[in-house]
Amino acid sequence: MSRYREPVCRLCRGEKVKLFLKGNKCLTDKCPIERRLYPPGEHGRMRRRILGYGLQLREKQKLKRYYGMSEKQFRLFFLRAERKRGITGENLLSTLERRLDNVIYLVGFSHSRSHARQLITHGHFRVNDWNVNVPSFLVDKGDTIAFKDKSGKNETLKAIVDSNKNKTVPGWLDIDWEGIQAKVLDLPTREDITFPVEEHLVVELYSK
Ligand code: SF4
Repeated sequence: MSRYREPVCRLCRGEKVKLFLKGNKCLTDKCPIERRLYPPGEHGRMRRRILGYGLQLREKQKLKRYYGMSEKQFRLFFLRAERKRGITGENLLSTLERRLDNVIYLVGFSHSRSHARQLITHGHFRVNDWNVNVPSFLVDKGDTIAFKDKSGKNETLKAIVDSNKNKTVPGWLDIDWEGIQAKVLDLPTREDITFPVEEHLVVELYSK
């Protein structure tokens, strides 16, 4: 998979929205979006009217970048959502939200989604006593997610967890700070996803 190697804050500025790609910096006033809410580059401040296809493309890029996925992976998630019963856009958001890297980030076991992906591929987590090293693994209702025994004793990882103890965890997840494990109480619905996105534009883009 090709990797994006430029400064990630440019992505947020390009989409004019916080994508939360830099861990704690995103929550401080050092976040470039707080000071420069316009796309990077010489012509960034020029007013541009985006309509039709451009608008659909921007929504798709925004969502794809928020979850840190490649185009190929994202399209596979879309096809999966399309095959399910119900509203495709909502299915897509719910499926994306259930990714293990996203859950690890939401419960505060990592600084960011990309950091969560790194920890997962390095084999630090188990889901229901199974070792899982696939960031796109989809959690299900009733699943428990925890550090592996050795990783749970790692001082660096413990410090990350401690620094995130005040984090607000979405209602579909529960976190036990004593045992340091998270539980999936329910599958996420559209209301659980607070990221500002018009998912119907993504569906329109892929349905052409
Ligand atoms: Fe985006 Fe975070 Fe950079 Fe702000 S600090 S621009 S939210 S990646």
